[in-house]
Amino acid sequence: MSSNSNNNNKENTMTTDHHSCSMCGKDSKTRCSQCQSKWYCGRECQKTDWKEHKKICFPVNSTCTRCLLPTSANQGICCVPHPEYLMEDMGSSFGPDGQTLSFSCKACGEHFSKVNKDRHQTNFSFQPAHAEWCFQGRHTVKPLKEGDERRICNDVATINRNDGDTTQQFQQRLTTEMDPSTVRILVIQNGDGFYDDTVEPVLDLHMPLLEELQLINVCFSKIVLNDAKTPRLSTIEMQNLPDECDMELKCSNLRDFNCRHHHGDCEWVQDMLDTTHQLVSFRTYKLGLDEVKFGPHLAMLKHIYIHRSDCLCDVVLGAPHLQYLRLQGCYSLESLKIKPKGGSRFTVETVNSNMSQQVIKTLKNSPRVMWDGDEVDEHAGVGGSPMEAMFRMMH
Ligand SMILES: [Zn+2]
Ligand SMILES: [Zn+2]
Ligand SMILES: [Zn+2]
Ligand SMILES: [Zn+2]
Repeated sequence: MSSNSNNNNKENTMTTDHHSCSMCGKDSKTRCSQCQSKWYCGRECQKTDWKEHKKICFPVNSTCTRCLLPTSANQGICCVPHPEYLMEDMGSSFGPDGQTLSFSCKACGEHFSKVNKDRHQTNFSFQPAHAEWCFQGRHTVKPLKEGDERRICNDVATINRNDGDTTQQFQQRLTTEMDPSTVRILVIQNGDGFYDDTVEPVLDLHMPLLEELQLINVCFSKIVLNDAKTPRLSTIEMQNLPDECDMELKCSNLRDFNCRHHHGDCEWVQDMLDTTHQLVSFRTYKLGLDEVKFGPHLAMLKHIYIHRSDCLCDVVLGAPHLQYLRLQGCYSLESLKIKPKGGSRFTVETVNSNMSQQVIKTLKNSPRVMWDGDEVDEHAGVGGSPMEAMFRMMH
């Protein structure tokens, strides 16, 4: 901020109404020119008050850059909830205190729980109580620092399935609670944190600006994501996709694929891999893959984590710049092909996987593979990544 600590640059506005000085109570004819809400008898009182008043003095009709409310709202107090799309699910449990959902917030770093004492209501209280807000402070009109995500964004939307929603009601909310033409980050989830199959919505919207999509614990009957509908989609995270979901995911700009719990036909996964050229990270947990092929066009692909694809028997790796492959709890690996011969070297971990002699031979002999030959200790190399930690909790 520039020179606003000096009130001399705030010209007082003259008026004929009757007001008393907010400092000394005397009759006053002037008020703060910036916010026009504080009255003073004269310059002295205004000067004395400025040290405090400047914290809540904003131009008339200005908007808070953090919460997007008028700066006059809530007596200047600014409260921002944890952004749903940055909440990492750290598991849930039932106990004598009711239902507990644990989270970690990537915007503020806080770990906290939401506790619901009555199973039949979704009436959550925060623990610890001070963790309710991602940001709690004063409104501001300054631009926020890049990377400060404790803020409300117009182009971020979260749609929760509520108790009692019918499929039709929920379907309608997909277009009334957000604007498909402007949404950039979208979270659609079941409000109580568990999978629910009583609503079966369809996701088939033109969302030209959509970059990140999270579909969590909602029983979609059909999902259409392709270059015509969602040309900018780069990050997708899905949890509990119903087996019979009619799924299309063909987005050339997809970079980050993360899917947990889908046991149906997985041909759409191969279509996804064949369409994108930008994929950097492929992470799955309990995905019903029989075979998977990472083609040579996947020049950006660095990380592959496949955990508990129990029926996965055939893997072809053509990605030329792969750095890390983790096959964990894959119990049926029969065939592994690695090409091209001249690609990058990459680390392989095969935790608790069941591999045929052919797979073992390939891992031992490929010039690209760094593999210590033994099954890695269950917890080796796991601690660092929150994703791995989550995999372990869900396991
Ligand atoms: Zn005064
Ligand atoms: Zn003011
Ligand atoms: Zn937060
Ligand atoms: Zn605010």
